[in-house]
Amino acid sequence: MPSTTCPECEERIFVDANSEQGRIITCEDCDSNLELVGLDPVELDVVSQSEPGEYSDGFNIREHDEI
Ligand SMILES: [Zn+2]
Repeated sequence: MPSTTCPECEERIFVDANSEQGRIITCEDCDSNLELVGLDPVELDVVSQSEPGEYSDGFNIREHDEI
């Protein structure tokens, strides 16, 4: 099983060889959410803690709403 280290705490993280790129993995040591950005070699990127609705709010621009 391929492995890499957590970018946050350096803990060794094992990644399932069948994982798809973009999969979110949680570090068991520091609870960071890590996105699998590369498979060969395995590379993880820290995902900022996202809150529900992050992508649904903030796009309420109504340029064509004037009558
Ligand atoms: Zn970690």
